[in-house]
Amino acid sequence: MRLGSSTWAELDRAALRRLLIPLGATEQHGPHLPLETDTIIAAAIADAAAARHDDVAVAPGLPYGASGEHAGFPGTLSLGQAALEEAVVELVHSAAQFEAVVLVAWHGGNAEPLARAVDRLRRDGRRVSGWQPSVDGGDAHAGRVETSLMLAIAPELVGRERPVGATLPLARLLPALREHGVRAVSANGVLGDARRASREEGRMLLAALTADLDALLDGSPAAVPAR
Ligand SMILES: [Zn+2]
Repeated sequence: MRLGSSTWAELDRAALRRLLIPLGATEQHGPHLPLETDTIIAAAIADAAAARHDDVAVAPGLPYGASGEHAGFPGTLSLGQAALEEAVVELVHSAAQFEAVVLVAWHGGNAEPLARAVDRLRRDGRRVSGWQPSVDGGDAHAGRVETSLMLAIAPELVGRERPVGATLPLARLLPALREHGVRAVSANGVLGDARRASREEGRMLLAALTADLDALLDGSPAAVPAR
């Protein structure tokens, strides 16, 4: 059930016990993917996992995150880490009617503020978890992984180009990236190689990611209501 397209009366009747909040970003994703790529991917995984549980609602995705490293490309808008942390804490406190909340994150830059927010909320006694997946052997940004996922979820938003950007492992790029931003290591904004992206791979990735979130909803004490 989607919270954003429901009325309060429908939500009251449904008495859903758990809420997924997708966390996204508005940031450059190379010359071929839209700026809302991370929000679309997080929401698609949340919707697919929620469809397997009749007690789970999905909130509208938060379209802004911590994207400072992508400044310097047109269109990138960022809340920054501190504001994102506060936003997550406030959102989850306001979701008091739900017994458990899972924050569904895709954009890597949101990981640290999300972890801090979850720590604070748990200390306040809130049943909350942050789900931030990684794809084994996947590239980091706007490359094969994200292009494949977008070809599976919203192909009409994917441009014709299949660009190659900086292909060194993220760990080796990170020092320069943190100090000078993505633009300093990749002129086209891609960290990876989109040439072999495909819709089939995107569907497989989406299924695997959905299964992972589904397992959290089935089994993690922090994501399952106590009663
Ligand atoms: Zn992304």
